Amino acid sequence: MKIICVGRNYVAHAAELGNEVPDSPMLFMKPHTALLIDNRPLYYPDFTNDLHYEAELVLKISKNGRHIQPEFADSYYQLIGFGIDFTARDLQQKCKEKGHPWEIAKAWDNSAALSPSFIDVNSLPDRSSIKFEMTLNGEVVQQGDSSLMIYSFNDIICYASRFFKLQTGDYIYTGTPAGVGPVKRGDILVGSIEGQKMLECEIK
Ligand code: ZN
Repeated sequence: MKIICVGRNYVAHAAELGNEVPDSPMLFMKPHTALLIDNRPLYYPDFTNDLHYEAELVLKISKNGRHIQPEFADSYYQLIGFGIDFTARDLQQKCKEKGHPWEIAKAWDNSAALSPSFIDVNSLPDRSSIKFEMTLNGEVVQQGDSSLMIYSFNDIICYASRFFKLQTGDYIYTGTPAGVGPVKRGDILVGSIEGQKMLECEIK
């Protein structure tokens, strides 16, 4: 199992971090050891002083495929979950300045929180416009709508599968909308999709 993530997939989020909008999906990966499941708490890592949340819709890949063509991309996922791409923003900034890979900022143990349950896309009124939201200690900090993604689910599946064989059980974190920010010990993040609570994560 692997986790493929998309960076800078919402215009407003790219802007808030001073990044340009990419001309193709910007991919990176996390290893399976990054998964944080079952609403477990996240222990604030000792290598960062600027831990950020990034709320994201997550696709669960339902069959194997390479070089997937646009007309078939829909059939490679059926379940959508809620994820948090936890990021050591201070380390990421250093990596970016040096032009280094950023795994130490993004792919560390437990950096990929994932909801215990998933939603069947066929149960949603409009699979091209899926609304999601995250609160921090009860205050809404991020609101997203998949229709605002620069690269759609299908675009990501087609592009990623040119390089990486997609396999059943892989996850794709599809990018975060604006509103990312820091957390501290004791904070509680709650994620929902279409008003349905999906994930809760306490920072310890
Ligand atoms: Zn992200």
